[in-house]
Amino acid sequence: MAKRFIILFFCVCFLLGFTSCKKTAPKPCSDKLEVVSTTAMIAEVVSSIGKDKIISQCLIRGDIDPHSYELVKGDRAKLNSSKIIFYQGLGLEHGASLVSYLKSEKKAHAIGDELIKNHPEKLIYHDGYLDPHVWLDMELWQKIVPSITQKLADLDPDNRLFYEANAAELMEKMSLLDQKILDLLNQIPENKRYLVTSHSAFSYFTRRYVARDGLWVDRCIAPEGLAPEAQISLYDIEKVVAYIKLHNIQIIFSESNVSKDAIYKIIDVCSKSGLKVFLADQPLFGDAFFNNKGYFDMMWHNATLLHQAWYEQTSAAQN
Ligand SMILES: [Zn+2]
Repeated sequence: MAKRFIILFFCVCFLLGFTSCKKTAPKPCSDKLEVVSTTAMIAEVVSSIGKDKIISQCLIRGDIDPHSYELVKGDRAKLNSSKIIFYQGLGLEHGASLVSYLKSEKKAHAIGDELIKNHPEKLIYHDGYLDPHVWLDMELWQKIVPSITQKLADLDPDNRLFYEANAAELMEKMSLLDQKILDLLNQIPENKRYLVTSHSAFSYFTRRYVARDGLWVDRCIAPEGLAPEAQISLYDIEKVVAYIKLHNIQIIFSESNVSKDAIYKIIDVCSKSGLKVFLADQPLFGDAFFNNKGYFDMMWHNATLLHQAWYEQTSAAQN
């Protein structure tokens, strides 16, 4: 009896082995729409629209610089098995292996291309180069939702209404936080709204939330350019120090995925010329977020960190 039971047990296991997905298979065991996004900011939009009807994966995860990201082991399998790929474009992804893959793949869509086509007046240029950091303006970032929704629905028309309902809910949630950030930073006096940070990621944020009069260009500065990869020159440091002096700035900010070397150098040069400048106790999230935080956490973290730092500075000046 026991022998027959053991034989039956092994037969069942053998049959299950054929009907279940192999562990080594690159494709997940599902017929759901597989979507890969390059950044966590795009992946969160895609996941919020597709929810449980899709398999949404992110290529550049954690506190990593997306500008120079190169493909690593496993990335090609992930990209190849997807039905559609969303990437930022606007010059963000320029690691050679990633950008050459994206440019050669018909299923890869640059959300930035949609912005160039439909909202060119909203895009910011630095010395002729497009600024890709559009996710830091929630009002602008909402504009990528309809085209992503449309592309998911085209591939999976049975769930079109589901995707459209989720997209509407997501845009409503974005609008609410956008207004909440505007209200929060509106509490800061005009003469304290000057943002010094690591690299030129915060122009869209500054235009939307920091500058009241639309004159955002003079409201932010950074020693590093659009991508935090170049060598910092003494000129870059001196330019920021002159800005700090001009606007009587007492607190400056680092970014989570960028070296603090240039920021420490600025504080050192300021100190040697008798200026007391402090580094905020937490970094801003410019290009990435981590520790299980999401896009909404990222935006609220940036807003509350700036508010707290500038508010304390204002209170100290009044006392
Ligand atoms: Zn950046």
